[in-house]
Amino acid sequence: MELSEIYQQSNKPQVSFEIFPPKNGDISKLFDELRILKRYNPALISITYGANGGTRDFSYEILRMIIDLELTPMPHFTCICATKELIEHYIVQIENMGVENILALRGDEANAKSENFCSLDFKYANELVDFINQKTTLSIGVGGYPEGHPEAESTEKDIENLKRKVDAGASAIFTQMFFENDKYYRYVERVQKAGINIPVIPGIMPVRSLAQAQKMVEMTSVKIPDELRKCLEKNPKGVGVEFGISQCQDLINNGVKGLHFFTLNHSDMVSKILDEIIK
Ligand code: FAD
Repeated sequence: MELSEIYQQSNKPQVSFEIFPPKNGDISKLFDELRILKRYNPALISITYGANGGTRDFSYEILRMIIDLELTPMPHFTCICATKELIEHYIVQIENMGVENILALRGDEANAKSENFCSLDFKYANELVDFINQKTTLSIGVGGYPEGHPEAESTEKDIENLKRKVDAGASAIFTQMFFENDKYYRYVERVQKAGINIPVIPGIMPVRSLAQAQKMVEMTSVKIPDELRKCLEKNPKGVGVEFGISQCQDLINNGVKGLHFFTLNHSDMVSKILDEIIK
């Protein structure tokens, strides 16, 4: 099912899960976790690309296994160090496999450096969205940043740039994680004010420990609220689940169309959160 249909189909928020290709290549454990998560009837399973060691060949293998599990994959794809030829080859291949959705991203310099074919045919994600739209019928998701993208000149420019991706053909925005829902609500207001009328799906990161949260924060410049930080410092056990439940409940009460969980390939915390909020 395509993104626009997924988020139109019911009054209940659709859940989706992000996974990454395991660095050691062992996908059997990952698929055990996915089988557990399948009981929450996810609308999408998104698979990161480039970051965390994902490769194209490995990505095909994971996509095939997700399809065999009768789940709907949404592979991420980054254009920062890919040629037009490579991109076309990949998107046509995945479309031929039966994939309907893709998350089109620019990618980060840090990941690009580890590759050896950086020719930068595309500079920004809006160009990738446009290209995918010309070459395939894939339905396209893009990234959004409630706390602003770290390189953005200003909040206004960041929204202008987001609009370029939407005008190029994106059907849904998947946000970077955030821990303060007010920032997400203000972001959605700015997005709508800019004339963008596609779903803005919040990205939820269940926090296992302060060290893990800090690592993510360093990579993204997202803020950890003081209260959450203090709780994690005192006694991290259970804090992430409790926080996730109240964060998701508040988002649901405010009418979000979906919840996109960054699972880090573990089902335990996400399951505990969903068991509480989906009753
Ligand atoms: P863009 O939309 O191109 O924006 C990048 C920056 O450039 C922004 O500051 C924007 O304001 C600015 N900009 C955009 N267009 C223009 C323009 N035309 N002119 C001038 N400035 C412009 N990374 C990975 O490597 N692999 C992944 O699997 C992955 N998954 C992600 C999943 C989600 C949900 C999110 C939110 C991010 C993910 N990322 C991933 C990280 C992402 O690649 C980085 O955040 C990257 O720095 C920006 O990607 P983007 O697609 O948002 O870029």
